[in-house]
This record gives sequence, structure tokens and C-alpha cells, in this order.
Amino acid sequence: MKLNYQIIIVGGGTGGIMTAAQLLKTNSKLEIAIIEPSETHYYQPAWTLVGAGAFDYKKTAKPMAEVMPKGVTWIKDKVTKLQPEANRLETASTGILQYDYLVLAPGLVMKPDLIEGLPEALERGVAVSNYIDPEKTWEKLRDFNGGNALFTQPTTSIKCGGAPQKIAYLAADYIQKQGLEAKSNVVFATPGSVIFGVKEIRTTLMQVIEKYGMHFRPFYAPVKIDSDRQEVLFKSTHPEENQCVINEDSRLGEEQHGDFSITIPFKFLHIAPPQAAPDFIRDSVLANGNGWLEVDHHTLQHKNHANIFGLGDVAALPTAKTGAAIRKQVPVLVENLLSVLQDRAVTNNSYQGYSSCPLVTAYDKMVLAEFDYEGNFTPDPKLKRLLIKDSSKEHRRLYLLKKYGLPYLYWNKMLKGATV
Ligand SMILES: Cc1cc2nc3c(=O)[nH]c(=O)nc-3n(C[C@H](O)[C@H](O)[C@H](O)COP(=O)(O)OP(=O)(O)OC[C@H]3O[C@@H](n4cnc5c(N)ncnc54)[C@H](O)[C@@H]3O)c2cc1C
Repeated sequence: MKLNYQIIIVGGGTGGIMTAAQLLKTNSKLEIAIIEPSETHYYQPAWTLVGAGAFDYKKTAKPMAEVMPKGVTWIKDKVTKLQPEANRLETASTGILQYDYLVLAPGLVMKPDLIEGLPEALERGVAVSNYIDPEKTWEKLRDFNGGNALFTQPTTSIKCGGAPQKIAYLAADYIQKQGLEAKSNVVFATPGSVIFGVKEIRTTLMQVIEKYGMHFRPFYAPVKIDSDRQEVLFKSTHPEENQCVINEDSRLGEEQHGDFSITIPFKFLHIAPPQAAPDFIRDSVLANGNGWLEVDHHTLQHKNHANIFGLGDVAALPTAKTGAAIRKQVPVLVENLLSVLQDRAVTNNSYQGYSSCPLVTAYDKMVLAEFDYEGNFTPDPKLKRLLIKDSSKEHRRLYLLKKYGLPYLYWNKMLKGATV
């Protein structure tokens, strides 16, 4: 087996496949290997709909072999160690591989063990997560027949920061449709201070919360899950303001504890597990203090190694970790990698932190948050062609885009190297 390549891409997920496809579209002679251990490639954005019974899980998966761009060598293996000074990396079974240029796109990993009791709760089905098994979410939601339906997320960075609340809105809609509203409380508890960082979107989402009669709890960080008692212990992320207090009108059965903590009992619990960069990135010199891959925020080139680039969930970019962000990162990375390949300096520093979050707010409505590093609302002008004047408002056409349009574009255009 060949052990040295002009370009090695680590990870055959959204970022890795899109990068390889666009590189080859520009120059089909490039020698590219993708290291990817998984047999299956997933379209994860649809998992939110799967969790609400509105999308078939099977349609979110395709064999990895089908999405590998023609001309790429697929090395079915796992990277275990990086040696950037020697332009080498170690793998689990192939041994040591040498590269001229390296693109890192291994995504992130779930770390349920960072919350006490969460691994057990997930294993026993006491807690569910669209991040791990969206079909289980739907199974549990169908069984729900009243009480507290609790939705929460961790204090770490997570992919698609909006996903923990999207499933809460869908569940609230489902609960209404089942006529369970009067005997249910839908609670969204988050360590964050507001429901969403972008002002225009925040306004709409607060109206959605009010419309459903949901209980919104900011400054709530989940720290322990008791599977037997079916309750979550939260600590305030702003103890000086003692935000974790029982509201006078609360019907949730909360219990106040010392040191600014509170427990909320639940009949249904959805949680986004804590998340982190994979160990081989965390343990390398390429990571920043928090373990994420340290790339330039605008060029996506590594800060200390000119022949290394990175993108997607693993990258230390101060914007939301989404496939939509990757869509805008890939053309910048590709142009810069091709410059370096021709012994030129990188010139494209145009990535401004674009990311987007399709906030499904009901079984037939959606709000589309598009924003940059500064949290400015930056809606795509192309939305006008879909007759969507203001994507910060709930819209049925946006929901149809999420359910049908985006999956089509993903499989048929983006993974094939088109810049859409
Ligand atoms: C529930 C949920 C909802 C979401 N909703 C949206 C949404 O609405 N819109 C949106 O744009 N995004 C959404 N996302 C986020 C989006 O799916 C991710 O941001 C995107 O897939 C990240 O791409 P990536 O290439 O960085 O990582 P991934 O696509 O996760 O791919 C990483 C790949 O690297 C491989 N890998 C890992 N470790 C190694 C190793 N050591 N060696 C070699 N290969 C390795 C993995 O097997 C994997 O195939 C959602 C995600 C989830 C979970």
C-alpha cells in the first residue's frame, strides 16, 4: 500500500468530502487520500426531524463508498497521532503515512461522561439525544403522556447550537397536537443567557416560546442526572445573580438546593451531550488551550504550519459548528491550499464566520438564522427567489426547504463539489 500522498484529508464527513470534491473539480490531477474509518456517511441536519418522526432515518445515511469523490484514495483507517514537524501521521492499522499537505476534518466527539449520570441515563433510555440516536427520541416522544418534557444542553461547545431547542419546539407542537398540553410542561433549560445570539431571531423565538407556553430557563447548566428519580440537577452559570431559583408560578416541581442549584423532575428528557475535539487533535501541538484545532479564522490555514488546514466542527472558529458553515469554509480553504501548493502565500481571507441554523419551530414552520462572527443577521439574498421576504420570521416555505431542498442539495450538489 502506498504510504505517502500529496494531500491527505482526515475525515470523510461533510468537510472532508466537500473539500476533496472541490479540489478535484479545480484540478483532477491532484493526488488525494481520505482517511475515514466509517462505512457510512450521515446527513446529520435531518436528525432533528427524525427525532420528531418527520423524516426517515434511513434517508440520512449513504454508504461512504458512494460519496467518496472519484479519483480519491479511501484509506479505511483511523488517525491516532499527528507528527506535524515531520509531515507524518500515525494510523490504527495502516501504520505511518506521509503527506505534503494536510486537511483536518475529523469533526468532534460526544463526551457524555462529562455529566454525572448521563452515560447511564442514555444507556437506560431515561435520557434521549438526537445527537446520538434520533430514532430513540421519537420512540420516547410517542410514549410521552404528560408531565415535564425537559430539554437541555451542556456548557461545552456543541455542533449545531440550535438543535437542542429545535426538538423542544417540535415536541411542544407534537404535545399540542396530541391534546396533552394541559397536563404537560415543556421546559428548555440552557447554560446560555439568551435563547439565541442574533437579535432578529431571538425576538421571533421568544414569541414561539410564549405561543407554546414553554418554560424558558437561561443560566441552567446540567451537572447531574439521576436516572432512578428521573431528575436533572442544574447549577447556575451566573451564581452571583442566583438565576436558578424557583419561579413563584412554577408548576415544574423544582427543588432548590444549596450553592445555587436546583433539580427539575422529568418524564421525558432530551439532552445534547458535552462535546470535544477528538483525542488525536487534543493531544497534538495543533490544538489550542481548549483542545480545538487552531486555524486562522479567515483563511483556515493552521496558525503555525503553513501546509496544514482545518475546517468544520473540529476547528477553533468562534462561530456555530454547522454544515452550513462548512459550505462557506470549503471554497476559501480550497483556494488557499491551491496557492500554497504553488508555493504562493494564502490570499483568500474572506471567511467571515458565516454559519446558519435552520430553527424548525413546528411541523410546518421554520426560521432561518444566518449570521457571521459578529452575530449580524446575514440572510441569503437568494431566499427572495423562494418568495421569503424575511427569514427571521416563521415560514412554511423555509420548513419545506429544510425537509426537501437542503437534503437534495447536500447529496447531489455540495458533496459533488458544487459551490451552492
Ligand atoms: C442533531 C444534529 C442537528 C444538526 N443540524 C444541522 C443543521 O440543521 N444545519 C447544519 O448546517 N448543520 C447541522 N448539524 C451539524 C452538522 O451535521 C455538522 O456541523 C457537520 O456534519 C460537521 O462536519 P465535519 O466534516 O466537521 O464532521 P462530520 O461530518 O461529523 O465528519 C467527521 C468525520 O471524521 C471521521 N473521523 C473521526 N475521527 C477520525 C479519525 N481519528 N481518523 C479519521 N477519520 C475520523 C468520522 O468518522 C466522520 O466521518 C447538525 C448536527 C446534529 C448532530
